[in-house]
Amino acid sequence: MNTNQDIEKKVKETIKRYKLCNKKEKILVALSGGKDSAVVAYLLKKLGYNIEGFYINLGIEGIEKDYLETVKELSQRLQIKLHVYDLKKEFGNSIGIIIKEIQNTKEGKNLKNCAICGVVKKWIMNREARRLKFNKIATGHNLDDEVQTFLMNILKGSPQLNINSGAITKNKKDKKFVERIKPLFYCDENEIRKYSKKKKLPIIYKKCPYLVDSYRLEVREFVNNLKTKDKENIIKNFELIYPKIKNLNSKESKTFINYCEKCGEPSRNKICKMCKLTESIKIQNNLIKK
Ligand SMILES: [Zn+2]
Repeated sequence: MNTNQDIEKKVKETIKRYKLCNKKEKILVALSGGKDSAVVAYLLKKLGYNIEGFYINLGIEGIEKDYLETVKELSQRLQIKLHVYDLKKEFGNSIGIIIKEIQNTKEGKNLKNCAICGVVKKWIMNREARRLKFNKIATGHNLDDEVQTFLMNILKGSPQLNINSGAITKNKKDKKFVERIKPLFYCDENEIRKYSKKKKLPIIYKKCPYLVDSYRLEVREFVNNLKTKDKENIIKNFELIYPKIKNLNSKESKTFINYCEKCGEPSRNKICKMCKLTESIKIQNNLIKK
């Protein structure tokens, strides 16, 4: 089978198997300017889903304009509406400064750039998707990302952290929480790259300048060298052990129990991760309850 049919078929099957979304729902696609999110948007649109794009302008010096232009071009080509969220405007600072400030606090001193950026982006996406009345958020996470995260959690000795991964968020349904879906869950990084080139999608093929976590990069390289079949097997194994991990009584496997006392967003604890991390830095004032 050629890559074209292969990837389209895989996405269709993943959507069906995990009940990711249906055609009546409004889906917000988190676009980054990279290949994965571009392919997600392209395929969901092609398969007839109701999508719009969402781009967070992180304010990364020197490259932000190129990314924004690329995402705009993609949205035009797919004829979808694009929502742009400006981090500097909303929070007063770019992601680089926010990351540094958080790493200077007690809460954040051991956290890597990607972990902090992930918390910030998820918090923004959930709030904005809810405000704009979307049913789902689609992200570009692919098979390689999933295997990477899975292996890193195993290597760190915290398999229970994997409880939150999967093709669809596994939290209890909640009116304030917008479910996140990963249509490329079973698609290999290389096949996505080939497909995106074949379709000539406007894309920036560069890795994020803040990705400096050498450990993650090492695992990434290891995963890169695995065969697709091996990667699929790792994920399938995880699905087999999932019911067991689910029953572990750990704080990571707790589903949402309440809303954050500070910002009102869904949270597993009294105070959400975002508010915890930003407790002692300036941007906390921007996280008012909504
Ligand atoms: Zn909060």
